[in-house]
Amino acid sequence: MNGSVNGSRVLVLNSGSSSVKYQLLDMADGSRLASGIVERIGEGPVADHSAALKQVAEELAARGLGLDSPELAAVGHRVVHGGTRFTEPTLITDEVVEEIEKLVPLAPLHNPANVTGIKVARALRPDLPQVAVFDTAFHATMPEEAARYAIERETADRYGVRRYGFHGTSHAYVSRATAALLGRDVSEVNTIVLHLGNGASASAVRGGVCVDTSMGLTPLEGLVMGTRSGDLDPAAIFHLARVGGMSIDEIDTLLNKRSGLLGLCGDNDMREIGRRMGESDPAAQLAFDVYIHRLRKYVGAYTAVLGRVDAIAFTAGVGENSAAVREAAMRGLPAFGIEVDAVRNAVRGASARLISTEASRVAVAVVPTDEELEIASQTFELVAA
Ligand code: ADP
Repeated sequence: MNGSVNGSRVLVLNSGSSSVKYQLLDMADGSRLASGIVERIGEGPVADHSAALKQVAEELAARGLGLDSPELAAVGHRVVHGGTRFTEPTLITDEVVEEIEKLVPLAPLHNPANVTGIKVARALRPDLPQVAVFDTAFHATMPEEAARYAIERETADRYGVRRYGFHGTSHAYVSRATAALLGRDVSEVNTIVLHLGNGASASAVRGGVCVDTSMGLTPLEGLVMGTRSGDLDPAAIFHLARVGGMSIDEIDTLLNKRSGLLGLCGDNDMREIGRRMGESDPAAQLAFDVYIHRLRKYVGAYTAVLGRVDAIAFTAGVGENSAAVREAAMRGLPAFGIEVDAVRNAVRGASARLISTEASRVAVAVVPTDEELEIASQTFELVAA
């Protein structure tokens, strides 16, 4: 839309509730010129998001990469929830900011901070194109049967209760990078992407198009995560309220912040859980086993959804680093055409690599995600078009 773009640099901003992460990338060669994080917003010297973004601007300026640089083509903002309104990267206008604010009830923890980051960045450089890249967007292609919950339609529609999915930027990037690793066009490859970070989600991607994902209305659904329960019988909530006398907010905190690996064993870091399993700690072992069982169920489900699976890609902190999780998740599945090579799986590395045997019909891979690069690419593509 803006043929007059001169620079090739994109500043990516990820404004969370208490931190702002940033990266400056040069899209001419994909290089990373700067990255950093301003933390503990609201405590101590960084009073608010405005102060945090000013600090980002100062850190960049100190390195000769200031926001006033003519090389800067655009700012790309990560926005968690795009609802059904935003299914593509979107050039930010006043109207777009208002629409993102309207989605706050769907993502009360995330969208307000994203909006604040956008407003402050626009105030700093009103003339610069700024783009919102939504975590939900890649999943907008899910067919209705995957996106719908089986509840009364009128009620669901009135309150926007449907499955949106998250981590979409990562699932998009990793599904394409997996096809590239296989030397095939993404349109020919069916992939199950397992994004296993502190938050975790799986997706079924047919020929580059998302057809199902494990997170739903919010990031709570699906896999066992660091501190989130993932799937559970919704009646557990009624039970905790009626029998346990817990309020809705208490249950929300329980399921989002005190459950998952942390709730099962007191630790949410897979490294620590691995260490404790080495000491035969039963709670750590149980947490690991529940995590793996859920993961395997999704692999089975998405195999059925896709019909033919060409690749399974592990990504994010746990997926990229834990050979034990990958081994346990893929164990005993030769009937599915899945065979992991123990030696390949044990090799550590920073680049995308295959860990399956030569005989494995399904390619199993470790594919490091790069959400910032993906946000920058989508941003630059839009403003340079
Ligand atoms: P986030 O969801 O916060 O972006 P990451 O993708 O960075 O999370 O993943 C963070 C998680 O990765 C940590 O909580 C930890 O459990 C896991 N992790 C990081 N390094 C390792 C490792 N070497 N072995 C096992 N797990 C690891």
